[in-house]
Amino acid sequence: MAFTVAIDGPAASGKGTVAREIAARYGFAHLDTGLLYRAVGRLVLAGAEPVDAARSLARADLDRDDLRDAEAAQAASRIAVIPEVRSALLDFQRAFARRDGGAVLDGRDIGTVICPDAEVKLFITASDEVRATRRFEELRTGGAETALTAVLADLRQRDARDRARDTAPLKPARDALLIDTTSMTIEQAVSVAAAAIERIRNA
Ligand code: C5P
Repeated sequence: MAFTVAIDGPAASGKGTVAREIAARYGFAHLDTGLLYRAVGRLVLAGAEPVDAARSLARADLDRDDLRDAEAAQAASRIAVIPEVRSALLDFQRAFARRDGGAVLDGRDIGTVICPDAEVKLFITASDEVRATRRFEELRTGGAETALTAVLADLRQRDARDRARDTAPLKPARDALLIDTTSMTIEQAVSVAAAAIERIRNA
């Protein structure tokens, strides 16, 4: 049976962690849709044309180990404004969302464009400073050398671009549950998300 959990929000809001935990708890498949855009961004940095890169995206492109850094993130948000890039990635995401056994997708436009009929829609936010600190710790743990101010600037620039674009801008779906994780632990955020899922599953 299909059951879709759509999770959107700005960069480093905690949505990826909540998505992974929810997927593990309920046995749902998980798709981090940001990876699709990062993979296209990387191909474009290597010289590909954005729409061609999106149309020919392959599994191996998603397995690269250079998709998590700030360069890939910036490249992703630049190609993410192109409507044809977004539409090239649409069918894959929609098919993933309706697979048997349930699916969690996290991104920017899952509840608004990809899965407007998702059973559960969450919009996860946190203050800029808290998000930057979380991403900074994550990058440092991964061995990257960076400054907190640079991480904050990267997040703010991407969020501004993601919110301002004409096609599928970052915004909550009208019926999304807003979760502000600024002063929450990850466990608390997951509990709020799980409670929303239980309400729908038991309805
Ligand atoms: O989620 P993540 O930070 O990996 O996403 C990288 C970039 O990809 C975002 O800043 C955004 O521009 C783009 N993106 C998008 N739509 C999605 C997921 C990511 O436009 N569903």
